[in-house]
Amino acid sequence: MKRLILFGAPGSGKGTMGDLIARDFGYAKISTGDILRAEIEQGSADGLRAKGIMDAGGLVPDDLVGELLRRRLLRGDLGESRGGYVMDGYPRTLVQAEALSAIACDSEKAIFIEVSETEAVERLLSRLTCSKCGAIYNLRNKPPREDGVCDLCRGEVGRRADDNEQSVRQRFRVYAERTLPVIEYYSRRGVLVRVDGNGAAAAVYARIKGLVA
Ligand SMILES: [Zn+2]
Repeated sequence: MKRLILFGAPGSGKGTMGDLIARDFGYAKISTGDILRAEIEQGSADGLRAKGIMDAGGLVPDDLVGELLRRRLLRGDLGESRGGYVMDGYPRTLVQAEALSAIACDSEKAIFIEVSETEAVERLLSRLTCSKCGAIYNLRNKPPREDGVCDLCRGEVGRRADDNEQSVRQRFRVYAERTLPVIEYYSRRGVLVRVDGNGAAAAVYARIKGLVA
């Protein structure tokens, strides 16, 4: 099983790139957000614990996320994908990166999508998210077919409350700072590749595609 880790600041387009890789290479796309949503929907004990923490405005602790992730990655259905999976939005911290490394895989590549603050901010301010399934739309180039309604689940689509310019810039800078140790970690392991994430999605994907197979 190959493991591909996509990381980049908010607005780097890593979610879109993960979708394209999943589509073209048959990789499973693994996001801790999806795993948490599924656990909560199923009403599992861990899901309810996570929901309680999130409802109280807290962050789900690393050990709980790591355990849910481990269970997901070890579940047999990953074998239906063509030999690989792509991580979307995880790991974000050194602790998480070490937790992921403890889960075995055959080979690993960490692709760091680098994007300028200006471009990231512009993308994020035009981004819309489905409140029900987490699908992401973009007013510039990928609006929902019906205004305010998710194509996939008919959930409500809107701009996230924290997608205003000041908070978006803040998130970009916090990400850049926090991720540095993660970048260094994968660099030391010899699996880090940096990709220019500026420009149209198709152009960025062309740069990434060759790194996957
Ligand atoms: Zn939806």
